Parts: sequence; structure tokens; C-alpha cells
Amino acid sequence: MCVLGTRPEAIKLVPVVLALAARGVVVTLCSTGQQRELVRAALDDFGLIPDIDLDLMQPDQSPEAFVSIAMPLLRHAITRLSTAMVIVQGDTATTLAGAMAAAYARVPVAHVEAGLRSGAAEPFPEDMHRRVIAQLATHHFAPTQKAQAALVREGIAWGTISVTGNTVIDALRLAEARLGADPSLQARVAEAFPPLREGRALVLVTAHRRENHAHMAAIAEAVATLAERHDVDVVVPLHPNPASGAMLQARLERVANVALVPPLGYLAFVTLLRRARLVLTDSGGVQEEAPAFGCPVLVLRETTERPEGIEAGAARLVGTDSATIVAAAGELIENEAVHAAMATAILPYGDGYAADRIAAIVAQEVVAR
Ligand code: UDP
Repeated sequence: MCVLGTRPEAIKLVPVVLALAARGVVVTLCSTGQQRELVRAALDDFGLIPDIDLDLMQPDQSPEAFVSIAMPLLRHAITRLSTAMVIVQGDTATTLAGAMAAAYARVPVAHVEAGLRSGAAEPFPEDMHRRVIAQLATHHFAPTQKAQAALVREGIAWGTISVTGNTVIDALRLAEARLGADPSLQARVAEAFPPLREGRALVLVTAHRRENHAHMAAIAEAVATLAERHDVDVVVPLHPNPASGAMLQARLERVANVALVPPLGYLAFVTLLRRARLVLTDSGGVQEEAPAFGCPVLVLRETTERPEGIEAGAARLVGTDSATIVAAAGELIENEAVHAAMATAILPYGDGYAADRIAAIVAQEVVAR
């Protein structure tokens, strides 16, 4: 059973589901509904739908309330279906609830994207979730050697950790294959955002994280200044979380070369990322994806649990100060050498075949049971 609840979990588990199916493993896709519509949209891009849709999210629900409601229901589903293994991904309330439910049911738990650590208390509660899940999981799929080392430092048994690469690179590969195979799909997907002008640099912006809600006005100010100073098109796909979207909208909706669009389907987002001159983001997944397209990333945070991109030179931490963001982005727009140095960095997050490595190990485990 793959348990998932949010958009990044869906995107990063799709390749695993497809790789398991290719090996003849029967997979139950169980969605908690934490971000119900986004999950359905992301799965739909790959022709998948949840087998179980718990639809548990309530307005203003705290992560702990969500975990306490989801966990016993997941435990019931795991037992009722005689599940041989539970697979969870990432660091959300759903991930934690799925891992706890499996542990209570005494079913092995595989954690995809194990071992990410920010080295700080933030992001909260994600970093706490990751540490607890590491204690519950029986199989740890670390995307990088750094992640593997973090798990070993916390006392996780070496033999239970596999370094696989990040499955998000597999998702990109699948998305590109789908788009490449069908020009009419490309045209349909492009209807989700305004036409991009030939020869204009595209700046893509996403910002939604809980720890940035207090800084959204500064981020919005930076994006507005950037759009006013440079001859660029800016596209900002809004997150459904109103706490982040409303502030961006209030400052940016009247800036001529800024397009605010609703959350995009994965294929549409990948189309923009492939075309972007740079991306400003606080998203984890986008930090991993953009380097695969040679797209420099300015990370709108003070710390990251994805230091590999920074060390490789593909990403820079710029925080949320408006002047710092504008200066760093302006340099990437105007200065070809600075842009090229980031765009040609070595890719740190995998080769696009992580899911098959994971599926090989999972298939062996479930067949043995
Ligand atoms: N994404 C998407 N549509 C959008 C914005 C992002 O499909 O409008 C994808 C993006 O490619 C990445 C994932 O959503 O794979 C990131 O999700 P999010 O930023 O919500 O979560 P995080 O990665 O920070 O956990």
C-alpha cells in the first residue's frame, strides 16, 4: 500500500507505483485527502486514481489533529487488505500517520526520501516528522549519500538503508516522455498559463511554506520589484493554502508582467520549469527538479534540508529579504556567466531510475512474505 496525502507525495510516488506494477506487485493507492484535489490532479497526469480516498482534511486542521484521525483509519485499511508492506514518502502529517499505522499493524514500512535533515528546528513540523518516521521505518530509501549518512548518525542500521536517487527525477523523466509523445497534450497543458513571449526571460515563482507565511509580503515585494526592473515574464502558480496566496495576490495582481495562476497540473509546471531562466522558490521538490533542466534556483529560505543543490552550485539560499532576492535574481537575469555557472552544475539528485531500484527491493520483500 502506498499512503499519500499531498501533491509532492503523489508526484514522487507515481514512479514507484508504476515501477512496482511493472514488476507485477499489486499496489493499493491510499489517499488521506490532506491535499485532496492537488493529489487527484497530480495522479491524473499519469493516468492513476486513488483506490482508497479517505477525504479527511478539515479547514484549519492542525497536523496533530490530522495524524490522530488518519492513523487509526489507515491502520484499519492496512489490516483489512492484508497489506504486506506500506510505502510512505517525505515528511507530512500523512507520512507520519501512515508510518505509525503500519508500525501498529506490525507491517514493514518503506520510507521514500529518507534521511533529509535541515540541521535546524525548522521546518516544523516536517523535520520532526522525518526523525520519527526514521525510527518506525524498516526500509529507508535515501535519495543521496548525505541523507544516508544522516540516518547512520541517528543509529539507523546500515543494511536497511539504500541510496536510490530521488524519485522526483524519475517523475520529470515520465512527464517529459508523456509531453514528448503527444504534441496535442503539450498544447492542452499550455492553456493553463498565459502565452509566454518569445525572447523574454521567464521567472517562475512558488512560495507557500508554513515558516514563510510571515515573510510573504517581503517575497511579494521582491517579485514586484524584479518584474518592474527587468524585461521578464513572471509566472506565479499560487498554492491553495490561502495564508500564502492572498499576500502574493494583493501585491502582485496589478503588476503588468506578472501572471498569477491557480495551482498548475504537473505537466504544465514541468513545461514552465523547462523554459524558465530561473526559479524563486521555498518548495523542496522544486529545488530538486530545477537543476535537472539547468534552471538556477534561488531558495527563499534561511536553511534547507537539500544542501546538495547548494553545494553543487545549482541553487543559492537567499532568504526572504527583498533587496537580497532582487539583487541575486537580477544578476541571474542580466549576467550570462553567473547564469551559466549555476545552469551547468552537476546534478545532485539522481539519474531518473530511483523508482526501479526501490521497486526491486520492495518486490523482493513482499514476495518473500
Ligand atoms: N508543482 C506543481 N504545480 C504547481 C507548483 C508545483 O505540480 O503549481 C509541483 C512541483 O513540480 C514539485 C511539487 O509540486 O514536484 C512541489 O510541491 P510543493 O511545493 O507543494 O511541496 P514541497 O516540495 O515543498 O514539499
